[in-house]
Amino acid sequence: MTGRVLITAGASGVGRAMAEAFDAAGAQVWVADVDAEASRACPDHWGRSQVDVSDEAAVAALFDEITAQWAGLDVLCANAGVAGPTALVEDVALSDWQKCISVNLDGAFLCAKYAAPMLKRQGRGVVLITSSTAGQYGYPNRAPYAAAKWAVIGLGKTLAMELGPHGVRCNVICPGAVEGPRMEGVLQREAAAKGMTRDQVYRGYAAGTSMGRFVEAHDIAAMAVFLASDAARLVSGQVIAVDGHTVNPDPKL
Ligand code: NAD
Repeated sequence: MTGRVLITAGASGVGRAMAEAFDAAGAQVWVADVDAEASRACPDHWGRSQVDVSDEAAVAALFDEITAQWAGLDVLCANAGVAGPTALVEDVALSDWQKCISVNLDGAFLCAKYAAPMLKRQGRGVVLITSSTAGQYGYPNRAPYAAAKWAVIGLGKTLAMELGPHGVRCNVICPGAVEGPRMEGVLQREAAAKGMTRDQVYRGYAAGTSMGRFVEAHDIAAMAVFLASDAARLVSGQVIAVDGHTVNPDPKL
């Protein structure tokens, strides 16, 4: 695959796996991540910018830089997201709610806002937004995150409508729990809180899927590469879960 691919939060986790998969597929890759050190540790042949996606000036500057370097963009992966507070709704501080919404929702909106004119001018392109199964089903103790991830589905469906007539597609990917540091922290904390082992907690959550396991970052990346490719040229406005098939989103451990 040829093309210029921008991935937010691309320096680690799911975004890093996406960047590696697009790179392996022959695309030019640019990662924008708030963590400067993690960005520097990415391969030298990738574009790398330190950007907080919830900061409009920073996102605008990123797109100016992309215009200067690449003169356009083929694929935007609006992937940045943070888990937000772990608390019942009544215990969530407004400031924590707003912070979670600002990265997950404002961040995707700002990237879409600055990418859209560029993609429309070209008359082709792809937007992929990373949501979550939390946005499809809810997520106990994570209301801000679930609300933001639901909202980006609305953003993605609207973008598909607005951009489709210009030859630009938009789809939303909903990962289930991904193996890696982020879920490992959740597993360890829940195990400690419930007097269970980490493996018991893992099995409890994994039993909420038909496949009986968490997904891996490269599973999400493979879906992103497929959705960005011409093989998916008529796939737009879709919400695609990569989650091993969630059958019980609230397994009550
Ligand atoms: P992660 O916590 O591993 O973080 C990945 C990267 O995001 C880090 O390099 C971090 O610096 C960057 N980042 C954080 N805030 C940022 C900001 N404001 N601007 C730019 N970069 C920022 O995350 P992940 O697990 O790789 O998740 C990637 C996406 O997948 C997120 O949208 C997340 O909500 C979603 N998701 C993750 C899981 C999971 O289990 N990990 C499940 C469903 C959905």
